[in-house]
Amino acid sequence: MTTTTWHERAAALNADGRAFIDGWRVDARSGLCFDSLSPVDGRKLAEVARCDVLDVDLAVTAARRAFEDRRWAGKPPAERKRILIRFADLMLAHRDELALLETMDMGKPIRYSRSVDVQLAQNCIRWYGEATDKIYDQVAPTSEDSLALIQREPVGVVAAVIPWNYPMLMAAWKIGPALAAGNSVVLKPSEKAPLSSLRLAELALEAGVPAGVFNVLPGYGDEAGKALALHMDVDCIGFTGSTRVGKQILQMAGQSNLKRAWTELGGKSANIVCADCPDLDAAVESAIGSIYFNQGESCNAPSRLFVEESIREAFLDKALKLIPRHAPGDPLDEETVMGAIVDQTQMKTVLGYIEEGKSAGARLLAGGAAARQESGGLYIEPTLFDGVDGSMRIAREEIFGPVLSVLSFTDLDEAIKQANSTPYGLAAAVWTRDMSKAIRASRALRAGTVHVNQYDNDDITVPFGGYKQSGNGRDKSLHAFDKYTELKTTWIQV
Ligand code: NAP
Ligand code: MG
Repeated sequence: MTTTTWHERAAALNADGRAFIDGWRVDARSGLCFDSLSPVDGRKLAEVARCDVLDVDLAVTAARRAFEDRRWAGKPPAERKRILIRFADLMLAHRDELALLETMDMGKPIRYSRSVDVQLAQNCIRWYGEATDKIYDQVAPTSEDSLALIQREPVGVVAAVIPWNYPMLMAAWKIGPALAAGNSVVLKPSEKAPLSSLRLAELALEAGVPAGVFNVLPGYGDEAGKALALHMDVDCIGFTGSTRVGKQILQMAGQSNLKRAWTELGGKSANIVCADCPDLDAAVESAIGSIYFNQGESCNAPSRLFVEESIREAFLDKALKLIPRHAPGDPLDEETVMGAIVDQTQMKTVLGYIEEGKSAGARLLAGGAAARQESGGLYIEPTLFDGVDGSMRIAREEIFGPVLSVLSFTDLDEAIKQANSTPYGLAAAVWTRDMSKAIRASRALRAGTVHVNQYDNDDITVPFGGYKQSGNGRDKSLHAFDKYTELKTTWIQV
């Protein structure tokens, strides 16, 4: 589609920011709203319902009723499968509309909203839908005088609280397995990007997910999110977001009803490139492409790059030539690969880290400033610091913006030690043609995902999640069912 057509569609966008409870679009009980402003150009997109504890009560009550009367959990798995696949089909049928909502709401380029976010989100729903009638329970190897069944049951009412960086995809990672397993869900999207989640709820209803089974409450974290985490009738909370809030979620679960609490949190992932890496061009392209993808707003972004000293100059030469390709552009132009930063707060945070890096003595080799200010939107140049020291804040804290810190090393063991010297443990990578070295490194790296000689592979078939303070539990793959099911043992006397 041409940029002009996308702009016309954006101008005609009539986004509905009301909540979705028990099958209906509703205002918050308080009547309060907040404005959703687009980071693309500053325009107002919608008035969003500011849900609070009252709306949380209504949604949880609806979800509980839907769970107890088994309108969803009681359907034959093959029927849940058909409905979830129809839901995925509807997402594809509304691909352009969903992509536009996502781009306007959080700023990512339209080419990726279409080809990555909608595509992966619908595939996730489809994959869990397909799994629904293919998973068997177990019979335990007990003695002959008894029969012991080990069965999975849905946990009940699941709250899902998600971030703004991949709004639709993070929603899909939660609702896919939770709905496939037969639960009812109350989803709270981020206040910064709630629009695609709200539209998903309408499409799910249209596909045949019964009213009350999938509810969406937009609102603030410390109002709607907190009320969900503290609710006595929520059985499980699936959280994706910052480590800071993740800790509060675990505390609130303990303070209330000890709901099962799963956390997918932040990262400061290390990408280690050895001098014997099999393809330097591929390593540079991947390092640069992965840190600037999604404006650097990715939990697993390889934001710490460790380059072996003997290839550091060659690496940086190549990197600096590639960086202009990632300059921010109009997110509604299909050629653009770097879009807008989600909001003013995030913009200030990222620019603050850039200042911090400069004053700590790191060498700014690219970027470092706001861009495209004439657009009325929020953009930052792809930024690269060389000469970063492991003790600097830009090397220790999650920036969540297009900022790459380059550190050099001469001894791989030392690099691995530094790579591990962070509270996070989400992802890591090592590049070397020596497979024994790669395997030793991947064993030593304390991260939920370790990449060898690439950084970009991803698939719904593999689990995703963190070691240490990057969280607990895993999204994606069949392992995700562990979060949203209880194991029941039934002993039968023979
Ligand atoms: P965040 O500030 O922690 O917010 C995440 C969600 O929690 C939002 O819906 C937020 O609502 C809500 N929230 C905030 N305070 C809350 C409270 N007191 N009680 C309950 N809920 C609360 O994180 P973010 O800035 O949206 O997202 C960025 C973070 O997510 C990064 O750290 C990133 O690494 C992480 N992330 C991790 C993964 C993963 O799979 N490991 C994937 C993507 C992102 P409001 O937005 O309304 O405040
Ligand atoms: Mg927004």
